[in-house]
Amino acid sequence: MRLVDHHCHGVVRGALDRAGFEALLSEGGSPPIGLSTFDTPLGLAVRRHCAPVLDLPPHAPPEDYLARRAELGAEEVARRLLRTSGVDTFCVDTGFRGGELTTPAQLADLAGGVAHEVVRLETVAESIVDGDPGEFGARFAERLAAEVASRGAVAVKSVAAYRCGLALTSAPPPPAVLAEAVAHRAGRRVDDPIVISALVWTAVEQGLPVQFHVGYGDRDLTLYHSDPSLLTPFLRAMPPEVPILLLHCYPFHRAAGYLAAVYGNVHVDVGLALNHLGPSRAGALLAEALDGVPFGKMLYSSDAFGLPELYALGALTFRRGLAEVLGARVSAGEWTRADAERVAAMIGAGNAERVYRLGWSRTARPGRG
Ligand SMILES: [Zn+2]
Repeated sequence: MRLVDHHCHGVVRGALDRAGFEALLSEGGSPPIGLSTFDTPLGLAVRRHCAPVLDLPPHAPPEDYLARRAELGAEEVARRLLRTSGVDTFCVDTGFRGGELTTPAQLADLAGGVAHEVVRLETVAESIVDGDPGEFGARFAERLAAEVASRGAVAVKSVAAYRCGLALTSAPPPPAVLAEAVAHRAGRRVDDPIVISALVWTAVEQGLPVQFHVGYGDRDLTLYHSDPSLLTPFLRAMPPEVPILLLHCYPFHRAAGYLAAVYGNVHVDVGLALNHLGPSRAGALLAEALDGVPFGKMLYSSDAFGLPELYALGALTFRRGLAEVLGARVSAGEWTRADAERVAAMIGAGNAERVYRLGWSRTARPGRG
């Protein structure tokens, strides 16, 4: 099955010591003293499935794994693990710690695939927020359009869930209200709900697909602010032809699935959680996530960040989980094998290609410039 990873980040460029590696294995960062992030479903999956890619026996101990990693070097390890994922297209969010990671072009080169950029709205806003508050809205619109065009970006991403929660406004904030909010911000970090709403509305007005972080994330997140049902007033009011992508979603994957079922432009994935729940639970998670979600609305992502292991395991976990779920339907006589294969192709690659118009010519983008 072909895979498009519609949301991931770059790979750490240099060597990692044990502490650096373990911190990237967990959304909680470094483990408490005396504990190891290898003792998680993800850590055990690294030993089971990534060790053989580095010529070690399955289940190699962490010490051996890290020693072999150091011996091969960061680039060779990344090349091997990325290529084992079987992903041929990556949509790469460059807005977080981008300086430490490979660029989309470097990632594509290591993986032997194609990469497209995803521009983070809050990062663009923070690069221009220090000017005249009254001109912020217009300057942001101009800068966003320029960034998207110059990078050939296929989508934008918002971390509203981290900054102010997903209760965005149901209309673009009036210019005077936006200027007031910009003028009263505490620092460079953009976290006011009026300002964040204005960023998202600007992207929507430009017809750009918008990815939203939802649910599962690092400690900067207040989980209950990331419930996707908080987006409802915004979703009702926005133009229905602009795609919305709800990322990760766990443990709100059922709420996200409901939104995907009732709003024609809403799509979901369960990236990140797949890796942290591990291969043994992927089928259960995907089965829940697919409850009632039209098959044209589910996408694949790894949300891999920093470690090439996360791209390999994301893909393996997803393939295994989806095969389990769809295979059970075929075995029960509910679906034909051809239907299962068609749905798998949609979820693995086809839906992302349609939503982001990957490989579509410029002239085939009516209404979206
Ligand atoms: Zn991400």
